[in-house]
Amino acid sequence: MRERMIRLIYPHDAACLICSGEADVAPGYGICRTCSARLPRVRGELKTGDNRAFDAQASPFYYETPLKELIHRFKYSNQRYIAKGLAHYMADAVREAGWPALHAVVPVPLHEARRSERGFNQASLLASEIAQLLEIDLDREALVRVRQTKTQTLLDRAERERNVQNAFAVPETARIEGATLLLVDDVVTTGTTANACAKALKASGAKAVYVVSACTRTIE
Ligand SMILES: [Zn+2]
Repeated sequence: MRERMIRLIYPHDAACLICSGEADVAPGYGICRTCSARLPRVRGELKTGDNRAFDAQASPFYYETPLKELIHRFKYSNQRYIAKGLAHYMADAVREAGWPALHAVVPVPLHEARRSERGFNQASLLASEIAQLLEIDLDREALVRVRQTKTQTLLDRAERERNVQNAFAVPETARIEGATLLLVDDVVTTGTTANACAKALKASGAKAVYVVSACTRTIE
């Protein structure tokens, strides 16, 4: 019965998220052993560069094939069950990083206009799964996007920084004061968005901000 319920909620749970094969799919992770061995895994600690407002960053994968395609399906084809699989890998990356005790999981917010256009916030779905796996509170309201920003994909670094400047705010500082937070996003490339979020959180009294994303590019 429970199994059937799970299949209804996650209809593709039995099939590999990458190859759709049904053999040796790791429960929860949703990826088969053959595909899993070929994934572009991040090994060891990620370098986050200087002048970062966040304390450290972890990510299970590099933003390369087949993760690129998987993230694209997740964001634009409404295949929300992908969040569950990715979150399992992300939660492992957080455990392996050995960070101090985390008080709350905070997703990078989407502007309301973009959220209603897409129907969901991908970072929020990942954050919700991770919060469950790590048994940490989820706080979707800690951070809000107060300004709609252009998509970062086509901007250079300086433009990205200007684009997200003052885009985020903490509506209620009391809820994050002194807290160690886990900021969640689907992809961290230059780290500009994560940095702007961490800046806003710290300016409002967060003690530390750690970042986890499903995928990352090497950050210089
Ligand atoms: Zn597979």
